[in-house]
Amino acid sequence: MRLVIIGSGFAGMYAALSAARLRDIQGVSPEALEIALVAPEPTLVVRPRLYEPKPETLTAPLLDVLNAIDVDYVQGSAETIDSKTRTVQIVAAKGARKTLPYDRLIVATGSRLFRPNIPGLAEHGFSVDQLDDAIALDRHLHALAHQRQSAARDTVVVAGGGFTGIEVATEMPSRLRAILGKDAKPRVIIVERNSAVAPDMGASPRPVIEESLRNLGVETRVGVGVASLDKSGVTLSSGEHIASATVIWAAGMRAAPLTAQIPAERDNFGRLLVDRDLRVLSVPGVFATGDAARAACDGIGNYALMSCQHALRMGAFAGNNAAAELLGIPTKPYHQEAYATCLDLGEAGAIFTLGWERTLKLVGAEAKKTKQQINTVWIYPPPAERAAALAAADPEHVGEL
Ligand SMILES: Cc1cc2nc3c(=O)[nH]c(=O)nc-3n(C[C@H](O)[C@H](O)[C@H](O)COP(=O)(O)OP(=O)(O)OC[C@H]3O[C@@H](n4cnc5c(N)ncnc54)[C@H](O)[C@@H]3O)c2cc1C
Repeated sequence: MRLVIIGSGFAGMYAALSAARLRDIQGVSPEALEIALVAPEPTLVVRPRLYEPKPETLTAPLLDVLNAIDVDYVQGSAETIDSKTRTVQIVAAKGARKTLPYDRLIVATGSRLFRPNIPGLAEHGFSVDQLDDAIALDRHLHALAHQRQSAARDTVVVAGGGFTGIEVATEMPSRLRAILGKDAKPRVIIVERNSAVAPDMGASPRPVIEESLRNLGVETRVGVGVASLDKSGVTLSSGEHIASATVIWAAGMRAAPLTAQIPAERDNFGRLLVDRDLRVLSVPGVFATGDAARAACDGIGNYALMSCQHALRMGAFAGNNAAAELLGIPTKPYHQEAYATCLDLGEAGAIFTLGWERTLKLVGAEAKKTKQQINTVWIYPPPAERAAALAAADPEHVGEL
């Protein structure tokens, strides 16, 4: 029997750990139940940190931990899924193709930034979505230091005032000062289509966010969108033109393209609709998890968000349940009642909220300590030691607050 997991993000990593844990508990050998993880690189890209400096350091190795738990790493990108013949076509680094049959498949391919068809965005826009994007932005910022000082050189426009946009924007003043030096006059502007920044954060944390932006000198333009980009900067829907060498797109996510190959229902973000066990509805043998799936996280109408917090735990339940089906034992319905947000605000600290209504619990330096703990410890892979790694993957405890 073979379980194939596609994607080595937070969800894929925990799917592998949790499936291996159940196999181990049931005393089943790795030969009797093969677990294979397909990904372009055997690394975890720590996406929630990609707004930070030195993005090339923001990955964690996975090969040793996969070896320790007897999960086979298959190098490559899954190109096609045939859910009728239960096979995945994989393209490896040098173009070599192989076909991997599966008995159960877990789609853990995550998400991508959605870039709308705005004139100039593809050519002139930056992002912090994937590792390569963050590295390209970082190189660009360093290259600015070799240009003569000008308003455009020193101005960064962040399109999107949601979670990611705010984290990028509040990090920028100190990043620009560090790169451009004393003569620079860094200016950071958030453009948000809604009538206020942080539209999804609700009323409780917004005043703290707005005050932090003011203290950092981050300007906002609300109720306007980006109309176009060109070499000179960005033009807003209001007609305002902002001279800027750096426009960062930080608005909107979509499930990764591979999900489109599964003949099943999807939501507006392209996420596959799944049942409480994270099985894709009406496609036998296929599970989806993390940002690739739309899953209920409780019985009162809350759904998992495209977030690391949900991806970790959804991954653990998907891995457990796909393995449980193959081993003929009961599955465990996914549930995640607790919900927290921790928003980095650069030199202004952070905020930490609890509950779906986002009640403010910590602000400033205290919240920043929690953010650093999350970003440098909690979301990293467990140690590459078999017993510790398997113990870390009990779905009932993964991502517990
Ligand atoms: C700048 C930024 C800040 C964020 N901040 C936060 C935060 O503070 N808190 C929070 O909870 N979330 C945050 N997020 C969101 C979080 O990063 C995602 O929700 C999370 O990464 C989802 O995990 P995942 O495993 O589902 O997908 P991903 O992390 O996207 O991983 C998917 C994996 O699948 C692989 N893959 C894709 N297609 C294929 C294919 N065809 N074949 C093989 N492999 C494939 C990819 O290479 C990748 O390794 C942030 C995201 C960004 C970009």
